[in-house]
Amino acid sequence: MKNFNPADNIQDLQYFGEFGGVNPSISDSSTYTFLSAKTMFDTFEGNMEGCYLYSRHSSPSNLYLDKALAAMEGTESANVSASGMGAITPTLLQLCSSGDHIVSSRTIYGGTYAFLKNFTPRLGIKTTFVDITKLDVVEAAITAETKVLYCETVSNPLLEVADIAGLAKIALRHNLKLVVDNTFSPLSVSPAKLGADIVIHSLTKYINGSSDTVGGVTCASQEFIDSLKNVNSGASMLLGPTMDSLRSASVMKNLRTLHIRMKQHSHNAMYLAKRFEKDGLKTVYPGLKSHPSHELYSSIINHEYGFGGMMTIDVGTLEKANALMELMQAKNLGYLAVSLGFYKTLFSAPGTSTSSEIPMDEQIEMGLTDGLIRFSIGLDNDIERTYQMMKKCMMELNVLTSESILTE
Ligand code: PLP
Repeated sequence: MKNFNPADNIQDLQYFGEFGGVNPSISDSSTYTFLSAKTMFDTFEGNMEGCYLYSRHSSPSNLYLDKALAAMEGTESANVSASGMGAITPTLLQLCSSGDHIVSSRTIYGGTYAFLKNFTPRLGIKTTFVDITKLDVVEAAITAETKVLYCETVSNPLLEVADIAGLAKIALRHNLKLVVDNTFSPLSVSPAKLGADIVIHSLTKYINGSSDTVGGVTCASQEFIDSLKNVNSGASMLLGPTMDSLRSASVMKNLRTLHIRMKQHSHNAMYLAKRFEKDGLKTVYPGLKSHPSHELYSSIINHEYGFGGMMTIDVGTLEKANALMELMQAKNLGYLAVSLGFYKTLFSAPGTSTSSEIPMDEQIEMGLTDGLIRFSIGLDNDIERTYQMMKKCMMELNVLTSESILTE
């Protein structure tokens, strides 16, 4: 039997444009005409495969991207959305009603954390945040009301790794849906193959890869995707976070080079992580043997795409972190910016940016320190040159001492 390879699955798809174009035609329409009123009625009822009604529901361009992303994740279907949050929030609202309960990893993207902590309680949905790496703690948090287990494959920003297969077993035992945000690890990890029910991405990051748009996707069974788009009760259809056709066509084109980019992001991040660790910097990267979940991650990744492009270093204080990021930007080593998956390295201090929604005491409890810098390592051609230039910046600011450099 052929092994599951997410990049091959994307490559094997073949869509031609209306006039034999090598790219599919873009459906630049919000609404669609019908030859008969009966067909329109049937389409409203959800009974007309291949007919389009209105682009908030679906459009040909969005369906091409849906199919490609479902093929990538190995799910029956998918639904693209206007942003990652536009995928996460309808998915969770579709799965939970007032009185229901969610068990979530505590180290997740700040926006998702804020949604679960501050917003969903207004709708009567409560969340217990747990250390997702401890399966016994996860299971102990489940109540009779729990409907969903939520985590990120590799967490933002602490790069903790979820044991998806272990969590899937717990979900099955308690009849819960396991929802996994795979934004940090496209191609490297295939959560649905490990037992996740629903896989989400912020397309804004690696999958689009050019930092020119926001976007998201929910990959799941046909039944769940149909429920999200149901005209009477679907959270995506009714809340309306629809991706525009022009955008889905451009994301689709970028998706085709994802495998090449992921290999280079992973190669460069591994190179820098190894060098920084050897220099004595506190470095967190799942590809390092020192990472607490290195073995687990090694056992679940599709190795050819590597351990990903995200790493953190801890330089001790926020002042030092800020000074280093400003200096690296001045030397054109990357940009002081949130987000990830760009060709250029991006860096930010999560405690004061992407995770600032998390209260300070909780940041401390989960190990999110002041001096932490999160790097999304870029596609640099000569990563040794980048390393030497970064090292110079660190020397200048006493983040690295000359002693550690002499050990080379
Ligand atoms: N999930 C993760 C892991 C993220 O890092 C982000 C954004 O930073 C999101 C979801 C939200 O995605 P978007 O900004 O596209 O709404």
